[in-house]
This record gives sequence, structure tokens and C-alpha cells, in this order.
Amino acid sequence: MVKKFKCYLCLEYSGIEENTLKSYVVPDQYEEAVGITDLAYFRKWVSCGNCGLKQSLHSRSNNALDVLYENLYRKPSAVPWRKYTNEETFELVRKLPPESSETIERVSYVKARICSYQMMGLFPHKSNYRLLDVGGQQEVLLLNLRTKTGRYL
Ligand SMILES: [Zn+2]
Repeated sequence: MVKKFKCYLCLEYSGIEENTLKSYVVPDQYEEAVGITDLAYFRKWVSCGNCGLKQSLHSRSNNALDVLYENLYRKPSAVPWRKYTNEETFELVRKLPPESSETIERVSYVKARICSYQMMGLFPHKSNYRLLDVGGQQEVLLLNLRTKTGRYL
């Protein structure tokens, strides 16, 4: 039996096995913090066979991490990975050398993709985009997306 998933964007079905990009069989640190165990656990990054949207499939409930984000995520020392305040974390991450920074790697990827889309005519050139920061990594991502002229792409 072929297992399928329904895309969040185009609502088409794709086979899970042939569209899995990455698969995990143990919970990450966030899931562990809310009590999720490796019993019957799975998490996969899949790509829609129709539109290409990358999305996550997982065994946990959709609201399993709500308590973490609502009550613990921003509190220093409340969780094992939060040892510093937001400001301290921002400074530490901002000062990482480029070769150690995932943010700089991601920004390079995003900028290259935008340039590619602009060359194909799929992303218009504008000088006044408004930007919504979703999961911006302590704003370090925004800092690195800024161009030399102080604008954002
Ligand atoms: Zn899709």
C-alpha cells in the first residue's frame, strides 16, 4: 500500500516514500522537552510532488509544542537550550564567523533563489518590499538579509 500525504498548499496527494527529503526516528530537543518519546515516533520533511512545497509530517499532535512556545521558549533557563536572554543570544549569533553561521548560509541561499527568480521573471524587482519576520532567529536573519544600502531584498 502506497502511503500519501495531502499538500498544505495545492491540496494534491503525493506518495510519502518517494517524496521524503529527510526522516527522523527520534524526537528533537523541543519535542523531548514536552515529553514526546521515540515510541512510534516519526518526523519527515517531504516535498509535494505537484507544487514542490517542503512540509513536515510528524507523529505528534499538531498542538504538542504549543505549551513550549507559549510558556517556555523565551524564558532563560526554563529549557535546556535557553541559557541566555534574547539580547545575549542575538549578540552571540551575530558575532559568529561566516563559516560557522547557519544564518549566513541561509541568507546566501535565499538571496541566490531570489536572484534566480528575478532572472526568470518570477519575482519582480522592487525597492519597497514589506517584510514579515516569521521565525527570524532572534532577528539575526533580518540583520543578514539587509543589503549594503540598508534595505531588504
Ligand atoms: Zn503542493
